[in-house]
Parts: sequence; structure tokens; C-alpha cells
Amino acid sequence: MASATQTAAAELVCFNEGCRARYAITEVLYNCPQCGGLIEAGYARLDADPEMLKRTFRDRRTSNAPLDQSGVWRYRELFPFLDDYRHAVTLREGNTPLLNGPIAAKYGGLDRITFKHQGFNPTGSFKDNGMTCGTSQAVRLGMKRVACVSTGNTSASMAAYAATAGLEALIFLPHGNISFGKLAQALEYGAKTLQVEANFDQILALVRVLAERLGIYLLNSMNPFRIEGQKAIMFEMLDQLDWRVPDWVVLPGGNLGNTSAFGKGLREAKAAGLIDKLPRLAVIQAEGSAPFHELWTREVSGKGGGLCPVSKPETLATAIRIGDPVSWPKALHEVRTSGGTVEKVTEQEIADAKAQIGLCGIGCEPASAATLAGIRKLTANGVIDRGADVVAVLTGNLLKDPDYIYRYHTGQLEAPGGVKIQPTFGNKAIVVPNDPDKIAALLA
Ligand SMILES: *Cc1c(COP(=O)(O)O)cnc(C)c1O
Ligand SMILES: [Zn+2]
Repeated sequence: MASATQTAAAELVCFNEGCRARYAITEVLYNCPQCGGLIEAGYARLDADPEMLKRTFRDRRTSNAPLDQSGVWRYRELFPFLDDYRHAVTLREGNTPLLNGPIAAKYGGLDRITFKHQGFNPTGSFKDNGMTCGTSQAVRLGMKRVACVSTGNTSASMAAYAATAGLEALIFLPHGNISFGKLAQALEYGAKTLQVEANFDQILALVRVLAERLGIYLLNSMNPFRIEGQKAIMFEMLDQLDWRVPDWVVLPGGNLGNTSAFGKGLREAKAAGLIDKLPRLAVIQAEGSAPFHELWTREVSGKGGGLCPVSKPETLATAIRIGDPVSWPKALHEVRTSGGTVEKVTEQEIADAKAQIGLCGIGCEPASAATLAGIRKLTANGVIDRGADVVAVLTGNLLKDPDYIYRYHTGQLEAPGGVKIQPTFGNKAIVVPNDPDKIAALLA
């Protein structure tokens, strides 16, 4: 948020209401040195005619310039943190479609639904929208090495963008806890991958020490520039809707960076006069990893307080298996400001919703399907009206987790704790003899 006293075009600002300390945009900060709060990018007031801006964004779609072809940098006036666009690292991220899914709409209790499918990104998830900005800032700062702790989409994306930029990528993984498809991407893109005998939180602490000592730039969730890039998911959605504001935007919540980014981007779009109201944000968590839902429930009942981490988060939707989400203060602010809500869903609900999205010819990874499962619950509870204009953000590509899909359709999928997932919409391959009569009879 730009304050009236701000002078620099772009700065880092402490998110903590009681602090709001400001730092140069070129400082390497992940937390506020004064209070430990989260850091965000803040900009001077944007003095541009909104109709002119909309025309500029639209015109860039026909340009062959790499920056204009990017579904993130096309909206660069709305995150002007770079002073030299030669530093921008792009794989033409974004440019993801809005898709209709009548079967999924019916399942979700809606007349219609729109999916914003971030799985169409270069490495198959919305992490690319953020990573293009994070790695660009690394280049601008003259960093040679970038690192993250992740077993999933963040490492796949960071590896690709680091390779593009000529940066060395370091990925730290908890030993023996590897998500195969996503790790394979990181290896293929040439990232140096270190498996540490420790858990996620311990490794994060270790990496922060190493980053300081070795001058490595951290591209984990608390990097404020990733949030800047992820704002563009909302800008592109609005552009594709001719700037009509949907009633609801529904997304899965893990570390809550995306929730923070969507809320910030939408507020800034409103401040710039591009839209005149905010859509309501609905964040969906998996039941076994739902600390933000628990916080929200306390908030709604007037109890308040901070987030209580879940020590052993569990869900087959590994992209949202997060017990201690870094960005919760930002996300809480955005859900409140938008008049939104937080819901949680079971493993069975996620699996069935995912199969319904598949039947639309769309498909996604398990975490993404939490959106439709959550919508089904929210329409049943009367929180979302059946006639509402709802955009559900599918965060990752179907091919990220084929093992899950095969197991679901063949009745072999088990939730953590050994609970069997019912293949409600299962679709098994049928073994047939090499015999036209028998096959014809089967298909009759
Ligand atoms: C990272 C990720 C999420 C969770 O997003 P947060 O910003 O951490 O809340 C959800 N789905 C997919 C596919 C992801 O890669
Ligand atoms: Zn502070």
C-alpha cells in the first residue's frame, strides 16, 4: 500500500500495522529488521488514466516483445519495482485461459463456473507467475545463486527460471520426503539438489543461515517479489473478463502467498481505478492441514488471536500440506478486506471434485481441486449463491501427480492414516481379448 508520505517510486515496507518501517527496494530482506514482520513492496500512487492503461495492456497482447508476451510483465505498471527491464527473466509465463466447466458447475451447486487455469504455465503451476519477478530481482541485485526449500512446484519453477537467467539454483529438500514428478523437473532444469536430514522448518532455518553467509538469494514464500508477480493472475483474469469483477474468487490455501497476492493486487487495481469493487476471496484448505481455517473460525466467533501451527500437516494434496503458513497475517487481512471466507474439505471431497474437473476435459493437480470441493460446501451452506459469478483458480497441472489419479480411478488411493478413498467417479481400464466379436459385444 502506498502511503501519502511515500517518495520513492518503489520501496520495501513492513506489513506490520504498528511498524510500517520502510527500506530501499534493493535491500535483501525477508522480514522486517525492526519488528520481524512480513515485508511487502509499496509504490508511489499510480498516476495513469485507467482506460488508457487497459488499452495498453490489451495492445501488448499483439506485440512480439518478450515482456509484452508475458502474462505477468504485460501489467508491469502495477508492480514497478524494476528500474531496468533488461533484468526481467521471462518464460512467457501467465497467458493462462479462463475455461468453462458445466459439469463441475453443477457438481459445485452453481449455474456456471469459470476456471482460471494456472496449470498452463511454463512449468505447470502458478509459481511461475511469482518466480519471474523473484528471479528478475535476483538478477537486478547481482546475485549469482538462488535457493528455496521445497519438495514441489516452487523448486520446479525456481530451477527453470534460474536456468533461464544463468543463476545457480540450490534446492533443499527434507531427506526421504520427495514428490517425484516435481523433483524430476528440478533435476532436468539443472538445479543442485541437496537432501538434508531434517524437517522442513529446520531446513528453512539452516538455509537462512547459509543465505546470509554465502550471499544466496532466497526465493521462498516470504520473498516479497514473488507476491508481486502473482498479483498478475488477478490482473490477467480481470483483463480477460473485460474488467468485469466476479462475485467470488476461490483458491486453495497452503503457505497463503497466493491469497496475499490476489488481495493486494485487487486492492491496488481498485486504487488505480481499474475496477470499482473487490471480489470476495474464498480460501479452501485440506482438513488435515487447516491452521488458517481454524484461525478464521476463531476470528468469526470474535475470539481472535494468532495462527496456531499444525505440527504434523497431512493431505494427499501435497502442494497445500503446510502446517505453519508464512503469509497468514497478509492473507487474513485480504480475506477480511474482501468480505471473504475460509473453508476446509476432506480428502474424499478433494478427490471426487478433482474427478469432476477432469470430466470437463480440464484436469488439475489435487490441491487445485480443493476449490471445487470448497465451492460445493459453500453453496450448500448458502454462503455462495447458486447464480453467483465464481472464478475458481486451478493452481497446478494434471500431470504433476499422475500417481494420485491412477490410484483414485483404480480404487487404490489411501488418505493419510490409511483411510481408503472411494473411487466415486472411478474410470478403470478394461482388459479385453484380441477378438473383434467380444470387443464389439462389450461396446454394444
Ligand atoms: C503452491 C501451491 C499452492 C498453495 O499456494 P500458497 O500460495 O502456498 O497458498 C496450491 N496449489 C498448487 C498447485 C501450488 O503449487
Ligand atoms: Zn516492522
